Amino acid sequence: MNSINIWEKVIDDYKDVKSDRYLGIFGYPIKHTLSPVIHDTISDELSLKERYIPFEIEENLGEYVKSAYENGIAGLNITVPYKEKVIPYLCEVDEDAKKIGAVNTLVRTEKGYKGYNTDLEGLYRSIKETGTEIKDKEVIMLGAGGAARAVAYMCKKYGAKKVYIINRSYEKAEKLAVDMNETDTGMEEKKREAIFFPVEAAGYNNIPTRKYMFIQCTSIGLKEEDGLPLIDDKNFYRQAVCAVDLIYNPQKTCFIKLMDEYGIKAINGLKMLLYQGIIANEYWNKIKIDNILAEKIYKKLETKFD
Ligand code: NDP
Repeated sequence: MNSINIWEKVIDDYKDVKSDRYLGIFGYPIKHTLSPVIHDTISDELSLKERYIPFEIEENLGEYVKSAYENGIAGLNITVPYKEKVIPYLCEVDEDAKKIGAVNTLVRTEKGYKGYNTDLEGLYRSIKETGTEIKDKEVIMLGAGGAARAVAYMCKKYGAKKVYIINRSYEKAEKLAVDMNETDTGMEEKKREAIFFPVEAAGYNNIPTRKYMFIQCTSIGLKEEDGLPLIDDKNFYRQAVCAVDLIYNPQKTCFIKLMDEYGIKAINGLKMLLYQGIIANEYWNKIKIDNILAEKIYKKLETKFD
């Protein structure tokens, strides 16, 4: 019998929640997660009678994945710091997630949980919705951490032409670039797949001057006192034709404010959060969530920043 029990890890605010069917999220810390807003709204609107529980897991990840399975948890999201670490505890990993090296969604199967990465398609959908195409774009990515891996893979999968990865630590940008240049996304139009170039933040002048799509994947901007990410030279950002900041809280980082000032189309990461959640829920419940419900959830998410 497993001595570790998943229900001991329910955060205080959810201790009294009862339901027919449970979904949840593993992470540390987890108190401020907005994911319950997404999944409980879907449950309420579609009368699914399921509840989404944040579980705060500080250690023994593998044991808690096992306990979640034994306790019948129907599906899980995985967030910081476990998106990579959870992989050994899964019975199977989807091909895209395997190539990214990170999983954010666990789907229950007869053999255990299967891992997916819905950040990738969530981000792609949020970008596409603005009318922007990745195909043939030259992209500047700022950051090479966990989330940047899904971003880089998305650029490759959807046919970006060139991607410059600028990071504070050059080795991480280099590793990501090498990994992505070696990765086959399985898309037919291989000739269109992006070529990746690692760039040290200090060496950004080596990037040819022209128009780029900017994707901001660092954690700079989360704190109120944060300035521009990595490059302080404002002129550098004039090269953007469009921009995404993965950060959604605050909704307007210094980077997004600068894009607004320059009149460059820019979105934050809230739609990415929305769609990664919707895609996960579609896996769990084998349903298709329409745009009307998606919009309703988005409006609810926005109220969390008043
Ligand atoms: P990681 O910790 O894995 O990576 C952080 C990145 O930021 C690295 O590139 C790191 O550089 C850089 N960085 C951090 N602090 C500094 C600093 N002081 N100076 C220069 N560079 C810095 O985080 P994630 O990749 O998981 O997440 C990044 C951001 O994306 C977060 O803000 C997160 O909120 C957001 N995110 C949004 C999602 C959404 O749904 N919208 C989903 C996932 C993430 P270095 O390599 O040198 O350390």
